[in-house]
Amino acid sequence: MSLPARVAIVTGGARGIGAATARRLAADGRAVAVLDLAEADAQKTADAITADGGTAIGVGADVSDADQVAAAVDLVAERLGPPTILVNNAGVIRDNLLFRMTESDWDTVMGVHLRGAFLMSRAAQTHMTAEGWGRIVSLSSSSAQGNRGQANYSAAKAGLQGFTKTLAIELGKFGVTANAVAPGFIETDMTRATAERVGVDFEDFKKAAAESIPVRRPGRPEDVAATISFLTGEESGFVSGQVIYVAGGPLD
Ligand code: NAP
Repeated sequence: MSLPARVAIVTGGARGIGAATARRLAADGRAVAVLDLAEADAQKTADAITADGGTAIGVGADVSDADQVAAAVDLVAERLGPPTILVNNAGVIRDNLLFRMTESDWDTVMGVHLRGAFLMSRAAQTHMTAEGWGRIVSLSSSSAQGNRGQANYSAAKAGLQGFTKTLAIELGKFGVTANAVAPGFIETDMTRATAERVGVDFEDFKKAAAESIPVRRPGRPEDVAATISFLTGEESGFVSGQVIYVAGGPLD
């Protein structure tokens, strides 16, 4: 059943979890702005959605740049209407053990995940509070609990949990919810890059990961998208400030 034609922005929507989420929200009946660094890449996801009968546009912006974020959110409001759903999904990894981690590794990861979610949420909440309805979902990670080689990423993903809880407290009275989805191992270019970094064939890497996952398989981008569909839905208005692990087993 199609939901009201609200407008959603999915950052990092060119591929992986973001692309699956953009497709899922469009299938839910939302008009979707697919935002990514390169407009042409974002447009490819948007074109696939349009070809399937959905409504989507591609927008190029760097979520860590305040001016680009402001311009992108204005553009979405102008072309599709007020964005009242935001999925903070854009992400990068710069893995390194602490003694090898550079300031640039640290700043890049903080910039995209934390500063990006802050800038996007600040820009979008103007529309959400004006409409008296909004949904913000930010991508955390099971790495928030600590992961070797990911001091930067782990700190950013844990930070997003605190950010989410605070948004839930501040924005609840405007009809806006904020939640975090924390995936475990999901099969995307990001986990493929991790396998390459540690010098393991991706198929072997996935097999090894599956053995430690209670449901005995790696996650798929669609598993995460389905959870985001619920959290951005019409019936989830009393679920706010939560961190939902999508990891094929229990984590807390
Ligand atoms: P992915 O395949 O690497 O896709 C990430 C997307 O974000 C790419 O299209 C990338 O663009 C875009 N992006 C990067 N920096 C950006 C910026 N500054 N502004 C706008 N877009 C930017 O990653 P994924 O695996 O789908 O992960 C999506 C999210 O889930 C991330 O936040 C990630 O940390 C989180 N997550 C993933 C997993 C997993 O197992 N895959 C697990 C837990 C959490 P370019 O291609 O141009 O760089």
